[in-house]
Amino acid sequence: MRRIVKRWLVRDPAGQALHVRSERLTDDGQGSLQLTAESSAGYCSGCRRPVTDLAELRGTCDWCNTRGCCVHCLSQCQVCSRRLCGTCRRGFPGPPAVAVCATCQQRLMQRQVLQDQQSEFEREMDRHRLFNQDQALRLTHERLQLTAQLQAARLGLNKKSLLMRVVTPIRWTAWALWKVVQYGCRPLR
Ligand SMILES: [Zn+2]
Ligand SMILES: [Zn+2]
Ligand SMILES: [Zn+2]
Repeated sequence: MRRIVKRWLVRDPAGQALHVRSERLTDDGQGSLQLTAESSAGYCSGCRRPVTDLAELRGTCDWCNTRGCCVHCLSQCQVCSRRLCGTCRRGFPGPPAVAVCATCQQRLMQRQVLQDQQSEFEREMDRHRLFNQDQALRLTHERLQLTAQLQAARLGLNKKSLLMRVVTPIRWTAWALWKVVQYGCRPLR
């Protein structure tokens, strides 16, 4: 029995067999030849998907430096452009929602907290401003009302004094006349 094996090997950049294709020709010594073909695929160390073509590999993850990336599982940090495998990829809910590395996720979250504080502060300032405006309007209104009341009161007083100016002399005259009449009617002694 004789056996001839042909083997094609594709290695990944790390030197590991990525894809092995072999053809086995067996001669059983009695004139019968048998050809068997075998094919075994390598795996992406990041997502365990079978990879048969070197072109599908995308290098090693920049974060863990151990797992590889392929066209299916590769992602990139949207902030620092680091290459990320499926395990090291983090998500930031946004807005906008992005795939990021752990460091950038941390930074984005801190920034969001600061932004939230800032906008809360601005809302508080707006509330204060509105309250002050309201207060100022109310004060102006009250002052106007008070001025109007004072004016009305002054006008009322003036009216009264005008009246008194007319009435008082009349009263005095009447009194004087009354006295004259009294004296005039006094019985002579
Ligand atoms: Zn990784
Ligand atoms: Zn993969
Ligand atoms: Zn990043």
